[in-house]
Amino acid sequence: MAENQYDVMIVGTGPAGLTAAIYGQRLGLKVVGIGDIPGGNLYMIEKLMNFPGFVGGVPGAQFGATVFSQAQGEGAFFPMTRLDKLTRNDNLFMGIDVNSQEYFAQTAIVACGVIPRTLEVPNVDKKGIYFCALCDGPLFRGKNATIAVIGGANMAGSEAMSLSRFADRVILVYHGEKLKMEAVMRKALEAKDNIEILLNTEVVAFEGKEQIERIIVSTREGEKEEVPVNGVFMAVGWGPNLDMLDISVETTREGFIKTDKKLMSSFPGLFAAGDVRDTDIRQVITGCADGARAATYVLEYLEGIGG
Ligand SMILES: Cc1cc2nc3c(=O)[nH]c(=O)nc-3n(C[C@H](O)[C@H](O)[C@H](O)COP(=O)(O)OP(=O)(O)OC[C@H]3O[C@@H](n4cnc5c(N)ncnc54)[C@H](O)[C@@H]3O)c2cc1C
Repeated sequence: MAENQYDVMIVGTGPAGLTAAIYGQRLGLKVVGIGDIPGGNLYMIEKLMNFPGFVGGVPGAQFGATVFSQAQGEGAFFPMTRLDKLTRNDNLFMGIDVNSQEYFAQTAIVACGVIPRTLEVPNVDKKGIYFCALCDGPLFRGKNATIAVIGGANMAGSEAMSLSRFADRVILVYHGEKLKMEAVMRKALEAKDNIEILLNTEVVAFEGKEQIERIIVSTREGEKEEVPVNGVFMAVGWGPNLDMLDISVETTREGFIKTDKKLMSSFPGLFAAGDVRDTDIRQVITGCADGARAATYVLEYLEGIGG
């Protein structure tokens, strides 16, 4: 096998990609893991509290670095780069990184996660904006907080429901005329005393000194209003960024890769794991589980084709 040819090329070095690398190496596969952040989105988790085995939690960045070292220790190769293109060449998957370096493999696991969609308004980078109520909602427990949730689809609804357990007041801000969520979700929101819904209302800026203290909203009639808040949860969607994927695979309407029970996409030999996949729970533990399963099914696939 040529030096730059592998059994499996993993795109993404988050929990899914790193676990796939650990399992792949331990199953005897030659693995290359391509990504530029050891641990992927783990670094965004101040303290990972819901992963079994860590009483009192563990900083996400520390956990990511440890799993990365573990995967390296198993012998996986990590060139620490981003993939510009994943394509097919002579019955192999070919990855070309941002430095034009080429990698070849018989199989590939796409584990490149998702990126949050956000708003293009002033101060959107300020402290106090969150993207995951399940993860960061408990920060507001017992703090008499007012929280804004931005968005109008199911995701925004479930974020608002979850936050209503921690905050005194949750304000759902949506620019549309009608919420885009399922009726059951809408009714559940309307039944909650501490959730208010602002329709036809657009967030035009965030303001605050160290962190966000208020949002500036504009109604359809053009009236501006300041709404004091202690935090903002952005729920305008998360989406995969599959620009680098030069292979046609079936995806959901939102762009998540559809897989079969063995995590293979519609393209033979191309697997998907973690948040990028059409899955129901996007968390560290489910990402790790996906990685373990994908690597195991890669081996099964390779044995099936005599690779
Ligand atoms: C703020 C926040 C808090 C969270 N808190 C929790 C929590 O408390 N508990 C929990 O279980 N989950 C939490 N999550 C969710 C958790 O982080 C994700 O479910 C998990 O990281 C998904 O793992 P993954 O490996 O699928 O993808 P990711 O962790 O997103 O990793 C994918 C990696 O692939 C890289 N990549 C993308 N494209 C390319 C490319 N072209 N070339 C190379 N690399 C590429 C990305 O840069 C990224 O580093 C949180 C998420 C966020 C954003």
